[in-house]
Amino acid sequence: MVPADAAPTTFADLTTIRTGGRPLFLLAPETEDELIETVQDAWASGEDWLLLGGGSNTVAADTEFDGTVVRVLTRGITVERSADRVILRVQAGEPWDDLVAHTVAQGWSGIEALSGIPGSTGAAPVQNIGAYGQELANSLVAIDFLDYESGERRRIPAAELELGYRTSLLKHGLRGLVVAVELELWDTAAEASVLGAALSRPLAFPQLADALGVHVGDRVPLADVRATVLRLRAAKGMLLNPGDPDAASAGSFFTNPIVSLSFSRTLPESAPRWPLDDPELPDRVIPLEDYYGIGPVPGAVEVVPLVKLSAAWLIEHAGISRGFRLPGSRAAVSSKHTLALTNTGGASGEEIAQLARFVQQRVQAEFGVILQPEPVLVGLGL
Ligand SMILES: Cc1cc2nc3c(=O)[nH]c(=O)nc-3n(C[C@H](O)[C@H](O)[C@H](O)COP(=O)(O)OP(=O)(O)OC[C@H]3O[C@@H](n4cnc5c(N)ncnc54)[C@H](O)[C@@H]3O)c2cc1C
Repeated sequence: MVPADAAPTTFADLTTIRTGGRPLFLLAPETEDELIETVQDAWASGEDWLLLGGGSNTVAADTEFDGTVVRVLTRGITVERSADRVILRVQAGEPWDDLVAHTVAQGWSGIEALSGIPGSTGAAPVQNIGAYGQELANSLVAIDFLDYESGERRRIPAAELELGYRTSLLKHGLRGLVVAVELELWDTAAEASVLGAALSRPLAFPQLADALGVHVGDRVPLADVRATVLRLRAAKGMLLNPGDPDAASAGSFFTNPIVSLSFSRTLPESAPRWPLDDPELPDRVIPLEDYYGIGPVPGAVEVVPLVKLSAAWLIEHAGISRGFRLPGSRAAVSSKHTLALTNTGGASGEEIAQLARFVQQRVQAEFGVILQPEPVLVGLGL
């Protein structure tokens, strides 16, 4: 284990957007046993604590963090095979993109479109990472979890994690440590021996299908999906490429807003929108004596159709262009994608937050939509 740190390591050193002050203590356990012991000790101390993986979804304030940061560096993958599936148990500190590269090389499909997302595997369920038509929820079976409230270690099936668009119970309510993640992927080995290549899951994202010169629903070699996703991400500054100044970010800073269909009709026709599936409602049997065919059905649930909007479109059409920055600020909108806020060098967490507030205010004034931040803010508020 990397020892308790008196050295001046800051959140700026530990996060991809490179802002933030010094935590009082920094511990970096490398084995599962050490991780659990370290986290239990931090909880028992009664002081503030924070878990950190790759720091790619965290934006910290520049004040000192008066507690313990546990940086999760555990590594390792175990594999179980069953028919045409593989079940992987992946340690939380395993870098997500190393995992994706490994699965693609093995011919296991299911997470290939999630290539190039920075950070650790343990943080992936926190916001149910997603991109290019896949999300973690499609492959996640369960997590091995140490619960902060009860101190209990338990396996939580994915179905109980309330995984949604960039959200989960872990992001909103359930506090604790993801020790490891269980994934189920397709083993394409048998198929590949007939077809000559390991194929992806059916493509679900038009831009990815276009870039591959095929149609949505088609399956293409896994390695081609990975290479194409990496190329598309690099063009948007969404890869952690040290040579790219736009990579000093936390990825997308805002989530795509979800609004009612009726509200979306107040927006310009050109505003992109995607209908969300209707929520599944249970069948209800209403006793005849309770209903006379007049007026609303007793206990009926009103279904409000929802649509997802493009936060990038809203930002651009609120007059904020790529590369925008407030006068004198070292925080800027990415020069490649309006959804990412970047640190152009030495920006404080507060400078990033100021820019984020400005973007929010412009979009709200123009369209009446309040954009919600995607990253976890530490000591900062919008
Ligand atoms: C360039 C770039 C591109 C990105 N693209 C995408 C994208 O396409 N799609 C997407 O969904 N995200 C994207 N992101 C966001 C980010 O990469 C993901 O959210 C990633 O899962 C964060 O992992 P991390 O280890 O860096 O998390 P951190 O920033 O270290 O932590 C994030 C949160 O998870 C908690 N956490 C971390 N580890 C654990 C653990 N073991 N147990 C419990 N809680 C934990 C932390 O306390 C914190 O609340 C991008 C980020 C960047 C910088």
